[in-house]
Amino acid sequence: MNLSSLRVGGKAALARALAQLERAPDAGETIDLLDAAHAAPTAHVVGMTGPPGVGKSTLMNALISGWRRDGRRVACIAVDPSSRRSGGALLGDRTRLSTDPEDQDIFVRSMAARDRLGGLAGLTVSSMVLMRALYDVVLIETVGVGQSETDVVGVADTVLFCVQPGSGDSLQFMKAGIAEIPHVVVVTKADMEQAASRARSDVLGALSLGGGDDNDGWDVPVLMVSSLRREGVDALIAAIDSHRDFLGDGHRLEQTRHLQAQQWLVEAVRERWGREGVARAGDLSLAPGLSPFRRLAQLNASLKVV
Ligand code: GDP
Repeated sequence: MNLSSLRVGGKAALARALAQLERAPDAGETIDLLDAAHAAPTAHVVGMTGPPGVGKSTLMNALISGWRRDGRRVACIAVDPSSRRSGGALLGDRTRLSTDPEDQDIFVRSMAARDRLGGLAGLTVSSMVLMRALYDVVLIETVGVGQSETDVVGVADTVLFCVQPGSGDSLQFMKAGIAEIPHVVVVTKADMEQAASRARSDVLGALSLGGGDDNDGWDVPVLMVSSLRREGVDALIAAIDSHRDFLGDGHRLEQTRHLQAQQWLVEAVRERWGREGVARAGDLSLAPGLSPFRRLAQLNASLKVV
C-alpha cells in the first residue's frame, strides 16, 4: 500500500493502513509508507486536552461540523488513557462522537494509550503522520489525566486546553506546568455565564503570571464556548487558524515538527533498548528530511547486530 492508493482508497483504505501499522510496525512496506507520509504533510494537527467531563467530545462534534461546513476534511484520534488493552481499532469509532458515517471526509478512530512510545501511544504518532498526509485537519483528543495532557504537546501543532467553569480547573491551571502547555484555552459550557466569565478571568490571571516565554510571541487567547448553544465555535476555529498562520510564519512549524520527531525517536529508542540503547545508538539527531521511522528502522538493524 502506498500513499497514492491511500489517497484514492478513502476511509476503508486508511483503516487497512492503520491495521498494517499495528500488525507490522517494522515491516519495510510500513516504513516506506510512513516515510512518504512524513514527507508530505497537508493537515494542521490540533490537540485537545482537559479533564473528564469538561465537554471535549461535545466540542469535538461542534468543531468537526464547523470544519466540514468550511469544506475541510477531518480526521480524529481519541486517545483513551483508561484502556490498557492493545490495539488501535479495539474501541472502534468512539460512540460519543456523532459524525455522519456516510461522510467520506470524516475519519474517527479511538486508540488505547497503551504504551508511551514517544509520548502518546506509538501507534498514535504513526497514525497521526499517516492522517496528516491525507486530511486538512487532524484532531487528537486526550483526557487530561496524568501524563497525557503534556504528551499531546509532542504530537500537535496547536494545543487546546479545556477548562470547565466553576470546577476548580482554573485553579488547577495555575499550578506549575499547565500554563505553559496550551496555545488556545477554551472555557467550556459558557452558557453557565457567570461561572464562565470568572473562569476566564482566573485563566487570564494565571497566564499573565506564567509569562508564556515558551510561546515565542504568541498571545494565548482564552475563549468562551458553549457547544450546546453553538456559541463561540466559529471564533475558536478562527483562533486555531490564527495559530496555524503564526506557525506558518517563518520556519516555526517545521521546527516544531522536527523537534517532535526528534523527541519521538529518542523515546522510541529508549522504549526499545533502554538507556543503554540510547547510549549505544550514539548520535540520535535526525538529518533534515529523514523520518524518525526510517531512522528507527536503521537503528533496529544496527543495534540488533551488536
Ligand atoms: P468529555 O468527558 O470532556 O468528553 O465531556 P463531554 O463532551 O462528554 O461532556 C460532559 C457533559 O457536559 C455532558 O453531559 C454534556 O452534555 C455537557 N456539556 C458539554 N458541552 C456543554 C455546553 O456547552 N454547555 C453545557 N451546559 N453542558 C455541556
